[in-house]
Amino acid sequence: VVVSDIMKTEIISIREGLSIEETAIVMCKEGITHLPVVSDGGVLAGIVTSWDISKAVAMKYNSLDRIMTTDVITASHQESIESAAKKMEEHNISALPVVDDDRRILGIIGSDEINRLIGGYA
Ligand code: SAM
Repeated sequence: VVVSDIMKTEIISIREGLSIEETAIVMCKEGITHLPVVSDGGVLAGIVTSWDISKAVAMKYNSLDRIMTTDVITASHQESIESAAKKMEEHNISALPVVDDDRRILGIIGSDEINRLIGGYA
């Protein structure tokens, strides 16, 4: 099984420059905890998670730039899910944006997709 077999392709991402509140609203509305951040050209610029929102609240940070992670760990569509799971485990994260050679987002794979596969729903 490779990443593209189970990745979520309905991509919800946000542009750079949003406020923390706007970011939190997108997460709540869409029911997601991981949001890729894209630049104007549609290229992956970072990732923000509900953990980062908690940090913003605790530290009283107001801008996304201060909390998003720009050094994003990604997967490629033909990568094995074992390799993707290993990356998540090693870095203590629960989702990886799936990108092409130009770092444009093709999907996202996380523990939800892997659980669905193991549970027999993928
Ligand atoms: N284990 C929890 C989780 O999976 O979200 C919390 C720990 S994790 C180290 C929290 C940090 O990881 C956040 O600052 C978030 O921006 C970052 N993060 C999440 N996914 C990432 C990814 N694919 N690449 C780089 N950093 C990521």
